[in-house]
Amino acid sequence: MQLETDLRLNPKDASDPEKVKSAAASKVSAAINDIRSFRVIRRSIDARQRNILINLRVRLYINEQEPENTFESIYYPNVKDAPHAVIVGAGPAGIFAALRLIELGIKPIVIERGKTVRERKTDLAKISREHTVDNDSNYCFGEGGAGTYSDGKLYTRSKKRGNIEKILNVLCQHGAGADILVDAHPHIGTDKLPAIIEQMREQIIASGGEVYFETRMESLLIEDKKVKGIRAHNGKTFYGHVILATGHSARDVYYMLNEQDVKLEPKSLAIGVRVEHPSLLIDQIQYHSPEGRGEYLPAAEYSFVTQAGGRGVYSFCMCPGGIVVPAASGSKQLVVNGMSPSNRGSKWSNSGVVVEVHPEDFPEYKEYGEMALLKLQEDIEEKAWHEGGKKQTAPAQRLYDFINKRKSNTLPLTSYAPGIVSSPLHEWMPAFITERLREGLQKIGKNLKGYLTNDAIMLAVESRTSSPVRIVRDKETYEHIEIKGLFPCGEGAGYAGGIVSAAMDGEKCAEALARILL
Ligand SMILES: Cc1cc2nc3c(=O)[nH]c(=O)nc-3n(C[C@H](O)[C@H](O)[C@H](O)COP(=O)(O)OP(=O)(O)OC[C@H]3O[C@@H](n4cnc5c(N)ncnc54)[C@H](O)[C@@H]3O)c2cc1C
Repeated sequence: MQLETDLRLNPKDASDPEKVKSAAASKVSAAINDIRSFRVIRRSIDARQRNILINLRVRLYINEQEPENTFESIYYPNVKDAPHAVIVGAGPAGIFAALRLIELGIKPIVIERGKTVRERKTDLAKISREHTVDNDSNYCFGEGGAGTYSDGKLYTRSKKRGNIEKILNVLCQHGAGADILVDAHPHIGTDKLPAIIEQMREQIIASGGEVYFETRMESLLIEDKKVKGIRAHNGKTFYGHVILATGHSARDVYYMLNEQDVKLEPKSLAIGVRVEHPSLLIDQIQYHSPEGRGEYLPAAEYSFVTQAGGRGVYSFCMCPGGIVVPAASGSKQLVVNGMSPSNRGSKWSNSGVVVEVHPEDFPEYKEYGEMALLKLQEDIEEKAWHEGGKKQTAPAQRLYDFINKRKSNTLPLTSYAPGIVSSPLHEWMPAFITERLREGLQKIGKNLKGYLTNDAIMLAVESRTSSPVRIVRDKETYEHIEIKGLFPCGEGAGYAGGIVSAAMDGEKCAEALARILL
């Protein structure tokens, strides 16, 4: 017999299997000797009160053997000689689209501008050490896409439980720990993601799919409003229906689509800064304790949403115990983002703090039409690069100094490897953004006591929160609204945000493509 029950335990007891077992047994009035084993199937932290509690949902196997599998495996058939389709981009959307095509009996041909996930590492190190950004191999481009050297947070605002679980199961099948199926806020960590991505690629190849690295799509082959395939920078052509999953940083792709008359529409996004605190301080605030997280709790998270000047101001992609990384994807750009290792053990915790921006908020960019916010992003990133000394050194300001419109005389230590330089962000970032940031942060400071401190710094600029344009597609068929056989997919198309939602969108596009191909 199997029985499930909910427990609320203190962090120490929740980490002790014997304590969990006996608490669960007594909750369901089962004899402890009858319990063959148990599984925690859901875990979350309740840090609202001074006494932190861990919520656990536990499944007990009473006089019954626990099944061996902790996740459902998917069967991938061999599709070497099956009908094929082209996928551009090997980020979460592209990789999950490829695996789903295989499941459905279609051979994926994956084209990726960047290098393999391992080779990418050398280029990432160069950004910090030599301040050079390779246009095709960086934190945004390369196998695994933007999500690989990241925090690997796997939560999404989507409510489609079944679809989310499918994505998490696929990750487990390729090497992710089963904890991601249990935790309310699952994350994998930047140290573990590359091996998982490699296994997914090996699966695609073993099933008869093809993967081409260092192959950048330069144009779509379009005839009579139908896509016939793509042409790569090296002159190679790849024919077939196309899933376009190039992410939100591939500005050259947006310009190319615009030139090829592929309909785009403007979309709002959010721009701001990355705020970095000592992780102990965030732990103290969130766990209501001068000792911080103690032995049994993870580095604390926070998230907030507020309104200022008629726009949302919110935290974005928080990385507890993480580091701030240089996420530019080309020259003359300075972009910051965050990532963390699986143990979330760094001395810092960072988060984007951003302001929602609509195209009409910047009338001076009206002349750029649907590309208005893309141009704004470009300009702010270039300004940040100038302010940073024309290197990857990030312009930074202490948090309290920003609130008080003062340039910081000194800066604290930071996790940001290329280094930081003191800069009055309140002077050169657009007032539309800084005024709302200031107001929003002041509101947050009233709730999160201790958050507004000069021990924290803001690094500029957090500008790649989502796509600045949408590649318009049909709601039912997922095909581009005008070009048949083209499936705009994932974050770059403007239909997803984050690893899991991009992966889910990849699966949906694969299913839509299969409906017309098979
Ligand atoms: C540092 C960092 C940390 C992040 N942390 C998290 C997190 O913890 N959790 C989370 O959910 N999200 C996180 N994100 C966001 C997440 O990575 C994205 O939402 C997600 O990767 C989007 O997936 P995608 O497949 O749509 O696009 P991408 O991941 O951007 O993938 C697009 C791929 O297309 C390739 N490409 C682009 N142009 C071409 C071309 N012309 N030809 C061929 N290939 C091309 C790129 O090289 C890239 O591999 C983070 C992002 C960054 C940069």
